[in-house]
Amino acid sequence: MVKNIAVLGSTGSVGRNALEVITELGATYRVASLGAKNRWKMLYEQARRFIPPQVALADPEAARILAAELDGTPTRVLAGVEALRKLASEEDVSVVLLAIAGGAALEPAISAIKTGKTLALANKEALVMAGSLLIPLAKEHGATILPVDSEHSAIFQVLQETSRSQIKRIILTASGGPLYNKSPEELERITPWQALQHPTWRMGQKISIDSATLMNKALEIIEAKWLFNLPVKQISVLIHPECIVHSLVEFEDGVVLAQMSEPDMKLPIQYALTYPERRQAKVPSLDLSEIGQLTFEEPDWERFPALQLGFEAAKCGGTLPAVLSAADETAVAHFLVGDIKFTDIYTVVRKVMDKHSVVENPALEDIIAADAWARQEAAKCL
Ligand code: MG
Repeated sequence: MVKNIAVLGSTGSVGRNALEVITELGATYRVASLGAKNRWKMLYEQARRFIPPQVALADPEAARILAAELDGTPTRVLAGVEALRKLASEEDVSVVLLAIAGGAALEPAISAIKTGKTLALANKEALVMAGSLLIPLAKEHGATILPVDSEHSAIFQVLQETSRSQIKRIILTASGGPLYNKSPEELERITPWQALQHPTWRMGQKISIDSATLMNKALEIIEAKWLFNLPVKQISVLIHPECIVHSLVEFEDGVVLAQMSEPDMKLPIQYALTYPERRQAKVPSLDLSEIGQLTFEEPDWERFPALQLGFEAAKCGGTLPAVLSAADETAVAHFLVGDIKFTDIYTVVRKVMDKHSVVENPALEDIIAADAWARQEAAKCL
């Protein structure tokens, strides 16, 4: 059976890797549609290569240019954020690969879930903001959420091999990012360029900065809580700079199963697309004798306090995770243009979280309101 895939966020790092994976998988995997924010030139190239019936750009002006460029081809161009929601819910689509950055992924995620799709989720903010709504919604509509985030894919893969009920804890590994060995004084003076130099993963700007602050791991704690239905006390984090062990699960008897591979996003993307099968992948075999050593250490909570925020928000729940996510997105955007220091990202998020009156059991409106409030409050802290 042909799997028709909507790739949303196709011009980003995960999206581009996904298109390579789909190409490698051959004829039974088809690109049904492509969506992105505003990079019309790259989307044009992708549309010419995959010839999907529909593509969409959230930015109307970029969509207008793209429509003119693709005039006379079989591909129709849709414009605006609602167009991304539409692509996520089209009847002929069976898998939505959602790789849009930030909170903008929430609405397309809801559309995909409400139409019972398989949601291959590369974005973490949607679950961080609204896991309390998305998980029951997926149950209600028979939608499946498959993690693409490498750590969560690792845990998901380990859990395929064994019974879930015996989990003692899961251990998310963290590379530590490019700044893990910097002193507190050095961290004060880090430039956006330095923070963007991730030693292992080539990723978009927002997630690269999140990796440098360890806020990415904070978001992943919340993501894991929802994906694996675990209390926060059963989630821990371990620094592992080699990025070979992508996460671990400890069972009741003390046995730990780990998932290992070369660090290549094509693997978790492919697993989400071919699940429950495994297929050959165009990734080199893992050569442990070449790597020689794998190292692990406890995270430094003092120098990287963002982790604490993740655990706090995960424990508290309600609207607090959405506030953490939105405040971080705002602070990161300002750090990238030089408005604030690297270490201010944490301070801004901390302040906004402290100020927030948490709504327990929020409806979608409460989450969207908390998100908007947090962005405003974060901007006031600058
Ligand atoms: Mg990850």
